Amino acid sequence: MAPARFRCTACGNLTRFDVVTDRRTRSFHHYSVGGALTVEEEVVLSESVVAVSCRWCGHGQAVERLDLADADADADADADAPDADVPVAGSRPANG
Ligand SMILES: [Zn+2]
Repeated sequence: MAPARFRCTACGNLTRFDVVTDRRTRSFHHYSVGGALTVEEEVVLSESVVAVSCRWCGHGQAVERLDLADADADADADADAPDADVPVAGSRPANG
């Protein structure tokens, strides 16, 4: 999954944000005999952005999430299109 992109409409910032995220992960905790921990194989099970603030403005009042569909439109425009007019096999007549 592509990471979220943000934009501060107050100052135009696209690259510097303080982001608060709730993240649930599963990982392999590998201890040495002496008790030193190395965390390995971390997998993100779920993730949600709680708050975003612009690094320059110091608040998130003007920060908006960028619509990634616009950025990726050239790559896979058809991939995410809703299947509106696809005929359904085996559909029954209206007055059955
Ligand atoms: Zn800003």
